[in-house]
Amino acid sequence: MKSTQLFHRAEENLVGGVNSPVRAWKGVGGEPLFFARGEGPSLEDVDGKRYTDYVCSWGPLILGHAHPKVVEAVQAAAERSTSLGTPCEDEVILAEAVKERFPSIDLLRCVSSGAEATMTAVRIARGATGRKLVLKFAGCYHGHHDCMLVNAGSGALTFGSPDSPGVPPEVAGCTLVAPYNDLEQVQALFAERGDDIAAVIVEPWAGNMGLVAPREGFLEGLRELTAARGSLLIFDEVISGFRVPEGGAQQRAGVTPDLTCLGKIIGGGLPVGAVGGAQEVMEQLSPVGGVYQAGTLSGNPLAMAAGRATLEVLHSEGVYDMLEERAVQLQEDLSGAARKAGVPLSVSRFGSVLGLFFSHRAPEDLDGVKASRSDLYPAFFHGMIGRGHYFAPSPFEATFVSAAHDEKTIRRTVADAGEVFAGLKGA
Ligand code: PLP
Repeated sequence: MKSTQLFHRAEENLVGGVNSPVRAWKGVGGEPLFFARGEGPSLEDVDGKRYTDYVCSWGPLILGHAHPKVVEAVQAAAERSTSLGTPCEDEVILAEAVKERFPSIDLLRCVSSGAEATMTAVRIARGATGRKLVLKFAGCYHGHHDCMLVNAGSGALTFGSPDSPGVPPEVAGCTLVAPYNDLEQVQALFAERGDDIAAVIVEPWAGNMGLVAPREGFLEGLRELTAARGSLLIFDEVISGFRVPEGGAQQRAGVTPDLTCLGKIIGGGLPVGAVGGAQEVMEQLSPVGGVYQAGTLSGNPLAMAAGRATLEVLHSEGVYDMLEERAVQLQEDLSGAARKAGVPLSVSRFGSVLGLFFSHRAPEDLDGVKASRSDLYPAFFHGMIGRGHYFAPSPFEATFVSAAHDEKTIRRTVADAGEVFAGLKGA
């Protein structure tokens, strides 16, 4: 198989054969497939086999692969220049489109990844408050920069290394960790260290340990506490941003953070991230304020064009309704198929992102996630990929539905999942 040959060549040249750890399939076993192209809801591997894609590049491809409007925008931008290294019009248009859906944002700074966005948000918070501690939640992932690799989710969780070697203890010591959804723990940490806490950073729907919903009152409680203690509240909406028609989880919850981190969808599949917030907070940043941040490719014209085209299509008539319908179909029918097979499965959902847990109830924190039967996931993954459906190669990642997934495609996935679940029964 060409895929196997490529992987062996890759292993000779790239660490672990990959450029991002979860792609290595260590969480499910086996060798990763190499893919050649994507079209709508499908991926095609280098051996010509097609798969329905429920990873969607880990979230950015909300319109599916190679949407014609996005491709056209990128091609047109590339003909003008792949990188201007100067301000350009699409940066402004993208920022306006983001602000339209995120009233908490007066000013935006675009960067090249979600990790850069959260790194910048934390630095702004430290600069604005003159404090050094940051409080995060176990199982939340905010990118791979030092102070966030503490009790992290996503690949760090998949590999059982939520705390990374190479992060100096002094740096990790500036990060406090509480269980997700545990307001009492947060109150206790504030009672002890509140005057030193620059910010609380949270995924308002935690999408890096499957998908865990915020308990009622949790986000509101964080808002009250941070406001009372002079800390900033950072919502990391790199996954949740633009998953719902309102814009993000903050609008849905009715909670206004001080800073918002975005990424994925706003780059339409090109490298992007962004941090935004109220004017007085954002103006801490250089060149207005003293908090430094910069990037050679920040606001890159291809990424801006792809993001702008993605948001335009996303906000055209009926797209969100369709996304919601398809995601509900997958959620309900997968749950039904598992029930029929006698397999415990709970499926959480925020807009068109889902979390699959082999448990009777949806977990509310990392301990709950770990208590689920994640040992069943590798067999599910391999059963599905064998039948032409690509789910994330880790039990701790979310499942993404795009606007290109039609009813028939999802029906086929669910029918095949029924067979796979039947094989899992009793495992
Ligand atoms: N924040 C969240 C919530 C994420 O899910 C991710 C990546 O998956 C990041 C930050 C980091 O984004 P990136 O991989 O673009 O650096």
